[in-house]
Amino acid sequence: MPKLVWLNGTVSPMESATVPAADHAHLYGDGLFEGIRIYGRKVFKLDEHLKRAYDGCRYMGFNMTMPIEELRANVLDVCKQADIDDGYIRLNITRGTGLGLDPRATNNVPNVMIMISSLNLYSKEMAEAGLQVVTSSFRVNPPDSLDPRLKCIGRYASNIMAKAEANRAGAGEALMLNQHGMVAECTGDNIFIIKDGVIRTPHPTAGILQGITRDTVIRLARNAGMTVVEDFFTRFDIISADEAFLTGTAAEVIAMVSLDTQKIGCGVPGEVTKKLIGLFREETKTGTAF
Ligand code: PMP
Repeated sequence: MPKLVWLNGTVSPMESATVPAADHAHLYGDGLFEGIRIYGRKVFKLDEHLKRAYDGCRYMGFNMTMPIEELRANVLDVCKQADIDDGYIRLNITRGTGLGLDPRATNNVPNVMIMISSLNLYSKEMAEAGLQVVTSSFRVNPPDSLDPRLKCIGRYASNIMAKAEANRAGAGEALMLNQHGMVAECTGDNIFIIKDGVIRTPHPTAGILQGITRDTVIRLARNAGMTVVEDFFTRFDIISADEAFLTGTAAEVIAMVSLDTQKIGCGVPGEVTKKLIGLFREETKTGTAF
């Protein structure tokens, strides 16, 4: 499959695509991104991803003059050109190009990139066995710093450091707490726990990215008659839970079977988790065709 990059209207093969050297996200992390999956020649939750990106642009004060419908059409068009069945889209929107922290030092014309590629985060074996997770020493940013609800490129440096901690510990993911010691999320996914039939996930103000997969799973679970609560909890609640799982565009829905080497439930993917994985698989057929 050809890996293509659409950058400010020009399509090139991945290998030869280049961003301006003084792009403000390249220099300072001053940009936003979305990771979007393609399942069976359909883009999954495209409108939800575009909405999150445009909300972020408003918060960051990016001069995003391209209407959302136009960007949507461009995404679908470049998917068609890539002629891809299943894959991963990386959408980047940065403030613009220019040297110097001051936003006025940029040309105030966002650089927009649509990359069509593939991403396999976890092997089939890992997905079947469930993930071992360790608690990171890195906390999520407090909301009065860079609100974790913003999918800002610069924000990810601490998530990458946390992921490196997980790698060194031989774990699949790292759990990040907020500044109060409450559970927030993992480096690239949201967390859910299940205890006595009740599904719990951190509230959007606990310091999380309000994941699109998270929102999808909440809706699927509620439609299936399950109780889902968004609230605040600690590592205690995870370790004493019956089941736990993670959600994210890249990770999809995957069981979490231990935290800091302590087993969750029986230490294998639980029944509710497996049911939700099945419901999510069905839902992936509902994307936008190109
Ligand atoms: N939290 C973080 C920090 C993430 O990077 C991601 C991946 N985008 C998620 C949660 C999950 O979000 P989504 O389901 O929208 O991919």
